[in-house]
Amino acid sequence: MSEKDARAGQAHGHIPVRTCLVCMRKKPRRELIRLVLESGDTGRIVRDPKQEMKGRGGYTCPECIGNFRLNKRVQRAFRGAARELWLEMS
Ligand SMILES: [Zn+2]
Repeated sequence: MSEKDARAGQAHGHIPVRTCLVCMRKKPRRELIRLVLESGDTGRIVRDPKQEMKGRGGYTCPECIGNFRLNKRVQRAFRGAARELWLEMS
């Protein structure tokens, strides 16, 4: 591992934190479920299990996803492009 890789990893000590769109608590990103606006202008918000899909994303806790609604806060997070929730368990 190069010195640069070591700095980018855990040695640096930085944990990315994101805010749940339901309860607004900040948590480490890996503990949250990433939701993303599906590509192709469908207006669907879908799960991003690997947290790597392109597109505008948002986050919610596993325990909050059942309460996830297409409210104003969520609309703002997805820049008004979200029209439908597509969050059933896969
Ligand atoms: Zn939450």
